[in-house]
Amino acid sequence: MAEADVAKRAEKLRELIAYHSWRYYVLDDPEISDDAYDALVRELEQIEREHPELVRPDSPTQRVGAPPSDQFAPVRHSQRMYSLDNAMDEGELVAWLERTTRDLGRPVRYVCELKIDGSSIALTYEGGVLVRAATRGDGTTGEDVTANVRTIKTVPLRLIGPGAGATVEVRGEVYMPKASFERLNEAQEAAGLPVFANPRNAAAGSVRQKDPSVTASRDLDTFLYQVVEPERFGLATQHEALEWLRASGFKVNPDVRVCASTDEVLAFCREALERRHDLPYEIDGVVVKVDSFAEQAELGFTAKAPRWAIAYKFPPEERTTKLLDIRVSVGRTGALTPYAVFEPVRVAGSTIARATLHNADEIARKGILIGDTIIVRKAGDVIPEVVGPVVALRDGSERPFVMPDACPSCGSPVWRPEGEAVARCVNAACPAQRLERLIHWASRGAMDIDGMGEEIIARLVDEGLVADVSDFYRLSEERLAALPLGRVKKDGSPVVLGPVVAAKLVGSIEASKRRPLARLLFGLGIRHVGATVAEALADAFGSVDAIAAASAEDLAAVEGVGPVIAASVRAFFDNADNRALIERLKAAGVATSEERPAEMGEQPLSGLTFVLTGALSSMTREQAAEALKAMGAKVTDSVSKKTSFVVVGESPGSKRDKALALGVPIIGEEELLRTLSTGQPPAA
Ligand code: AMP
Ligand code: ZN
Repeated sequence: MAEADVAKRAEKLRELIAYHSWRYYVLDDPEISDDAYDALVRELEQIEREHPELVRPDSPTQRVGAPPSDQFAPVRHSQRMYSLDNAMDEGELVAWLERTTRDLGRPVRYVCELKIDGSSIALTYEGGVLVRAATRGDGTTGEDVTANVRTIKTVPLRLIGPGAGATVEVRGEVYMPKASFERLNEAQEAAGLPVFANPRNAAAGSVRQKDPSVTASRDLDTFLYQVVEPERFGLATQHEALEWLRASGFKVNPDVRVCASTDEVLAFCREALERRHDLPYEIDGVVVKVDSFAEQAELGFTAKAPRWAIAYKFPPEERTTKLLDIRVSVGRTGALTPYAVFEPVRVAGSTIARATLHNADEIARKGILIGDTIIVRKAGDVIPEVVGPVVALRDGSERPFVMPDACPSCGSPVWRPEGEAVARCVNAACPAQRLERLIHWASRGAMDIDGMGEEIIARLVDEGLVADVSDFYRLSEERLAALPLGRVKKDGSPVVLGPVVAAKLVGSIEASKRRPLARLLFGLGIRHVGATVAEALADAFGSVDAIAAASAEDLAAVEGVGPVIAASVRAFFDNADNRALIERLKAAGVATSEERPAEMGEQPLSGLTFVLTGALSSMTREQAAEALKAMGAKVTDSVSKKTSFVVVGESPGSKRDKALALGVPIIGEEELLRTLSTGQPPAA
């Protein structure tokens, strides 16, 4: 074939493949067999191999092609990607409908769409060809995830129909179907990798992979629902925009309804709630939008969200299941915590089988019997919770839970002071408590011994190598390498930790010797001394010795430390075993005093208080908090009027809402990074 003919053929093939992959992936209605389709792709691949100069970015062969990027470049959105205001119940939804109708002063038509629980995405096409895909980020600046999004089969690489040749930005949701999510988590589990909490996190995580071929393997899908600057395409309403998107080759959710009254909107919401479990993807509500773009413009935006749309959120999901047993775990302070063990159920996107019941009073208050059919839900869509029993379904075989009077781990008598809800094992040598204390010491918030997980610690205890936290610092690399993991190989010899992991662990143990004083205090697990109190004590006294020497009055004088905490700290250091432990830690080289940047003068962020919510991409929240504190800022867990800034990452929690309600300034990751690198506080 002549060069020109080859080029023509390649172009024709690309068109054909784009058309048939749209029929197959978007419409789910193929016209040709899989074999015929594969033959087209193979022919194009062949041509492109022989004529690399003919490869185009919108070629279907380029879905996985771009080299993996090290970092996601920031993308400034042409127009801000707003979030949506929420209506938490039908009452709030009706109030919003009435307000928009009143503000517009005429009957309003609304479009109801399902609220897809995924990750938002902005796609830019130039001359009809996909050139960029960006995440929402903080709304102003997102991340360039083009190479990854290109691998999603329902994202057209080139527009067809009314969108053919258009330069346009469209927005929508990337999501992971429920079935793909289950498969992914099974595979993650089999590979010993962490599982995703829900399809939303899985989708967001998959879009932000360093290697596009990983994204390609994740089975992501899309629904598009917004055309930016729709008037450029002669579109006057949201429902026309959805039609335009569909005709241009995008996947658009079919469950859309134009409603002319409150009753119609409510009916759509109720139907959606009813059907949510039958859908192959997760939805967490309904988005109601004013249909007319002219009316949308009249209503405008608040600082954070459009006034012309609202997200009606479904009530927290509840499921019923069978309560198989109530068991008791022993924490590091000896507290006995009953927890429910029930038949696994899927709630709000993940499978749960256990939930804490907190204490015996709580069980009595809820009236739960072992064997009951119970209602479970996920509080804040995260922590599983038992709501209560379905009394009508009892058959008489149920039995009440009795708090054991002996510790399930060591058999010592359990002590429950008058008027206290919590029962405790008070045996200081209790193996369960000891194990939990060791786990706590090594944990992220405390001494952060990277790689020292629960399983290894349990094995170290079993082998008699570690009894208290100072023993971590006496472990030799050889002993660790030879640590049996409690399994045997085919030939009957024990599986051991091995030299590679051992060397890493020794490094982590060494690194943990230099943690800040507050971490060490928290790691000791003194009753009532959480991370915040530990911080206050470290700031006030500067060393373990100074704290150990302080009187209860001195301790109680520290802000945030009352008489109860002071007494607990005193009791800890009055105990000879504990003092001996501190000496052993010092002897092992663990730092027990703060090297204070003495007289360093005013630090750049002193006087400012930050709260972090959502996931950051460039560091963990702990790392961000440490970095802020190192510059003199305070970092707290809850938002109040006194909070200076709330840092919002991907998928933020209720703290963002609280910040909005209180008018506390919100900053994104980019702003945070700027602050950390320049030492300039963010602009309020
Ligand atoms: P939230 O994150 O709770 O503030 O909700 C806003 C987000 O809902 C948007 O950023 C979108 O990513 C998402 N969303 C899902 N489905 C829709 C839809 N049909 N219309 C608008 N936004 C949607
Ligand atoms: Zn015990």
